[in-house]
Amino acid sequence: MNTTDNIYQLAVAGVQSLIPYKGGKPIEELERELGLSHIVKLASNENPIGIGQKALAAIQKASADLALYPDGNGYRLKQALAAKYALDASQITLGNGSNEILELLARAFLTPKHEVIFSQHAFAVYPIVTQAVGAKAVVVPAVNYGHDLDAMLASVTEHTRLIFIANPNNPTGTLLSQADVKRFIAALPDTVICVLDEAYFEFVSGAALADSAVEAINSIDWLKLYPNLIITRTFSKAYGLAGLRVGYGLSSPQMADILNRVRQPFNNNALALAAAEAALDDIDHLQKTLQTNSQGMQQLTDGFKALGLEWIPSAGNFVSVDLKQPGQPIYEALLRKGVIVRPVGNYEMPNHLRISIGTQVENQTFLNALKDILADV
Ligand SMILES: *Cc1c(COP(=O)(O)O)cnc(C)c1O
Repeated sequence: MNTTDNIYQLAVAGVQSLIPYKGGKPIEELERELGLSHIVKLASNENPIGIGQKALAAIQKASADLALYPDGNGYRLKQALAAKYALDASQITLGNGSNEILELLARAFLTPKHEVIFSQHAFAVYPIVTQAVGAKAVVVPAVNYGHDLDAMLASVTEHTRLIFIANPNNPTGTLLSQADVKRFIAALPDTVICVLDEAYFEFVSGAALADSAVEAINSIDWLKLYPNLIITRTFSKAYGLAGLRVGYGLSSPQMADILNRVRQPFNNNALALAAAEAALDDIDHLQKTLQTNSQGMQQLTDGFKALGLEWIPSAGNFVSVDLKQPGQPIYEALLRKGVIVRPVGNYEMPNHLRISIGTQVENQTFLNALKDILADV
């Protein structure tokens, strides 16, 4: 055991063949590579209007106490979330991003004997957390880019322990109806845990408030009925705190207790806890965010229409456009023009690019660049 290659043989089986998550290209990296400035990043579904003033003020205040460990139980943030959702604080698990909740679920509930079901084109973290603990991923083909709940239900076996459903899904933006999701959960054996990933929940509930034809999400009501349900949400998207890493799970107190056993004692840092609590209170910032998103979605889809392109209707803060040709070269051409978007070939969508909704100016910069590139090929 003295060559560096051999160390790979020591890793657990799932990790030996694991392909790490690839995020959106950081702005600084593109600046270094191309010597460009004024880069537009529409690649990671971040909030284009940034962090809100209340969260920023809370960070400044909390920074005075950074020599102290944070509150390992996140008491204040849990109280605020419990009040917002009319739940008990014991039903809340805080994570270093909601990604951490997904990982805690895998660590707490999966062994190499177990199967995990998720959809084709679903969020890339599901296969990673599954494989890392050696469990078996069962990927169910999508229908029109959305989850096929009937087929997912039919894939349940005695080995199934976890099912991931992203609603809306990333990178497709597809949204399942509340009735369909509820029926699905109700039909699961109680030995199967359903993880309902609602990272984009706020965009749906904002749209539902603005337009009575849009259905509101009411999954929290189901927690009383199904102890095998956990809902995950995040401060990374609508609340503009992606850099701080705060997400949470809502579940039965028993499920939260289990996740709490495998959680690191101080998994949320002090600035993140303070900022998230303040952000929950910043209705103005959330409203501005939702308005920027709906206007930007209109602007981008109008632009696609003018270019003769189709897109997958999205309930999130991003939209995947069908270029009818490989997306990777277009992605690279956009980079050279200082626009970062997200290629989704690794999601089995090689002809699509996923565009996060930006500000009006950012969206226009992207559309102009795309138009120039498509005129050239
Ligand atoms: C962004 C995203 C998350 C989690 O993001 P965190 O920053 O870890 O909270 C989870 N699920 C989906 C589907 C996402 O797109």
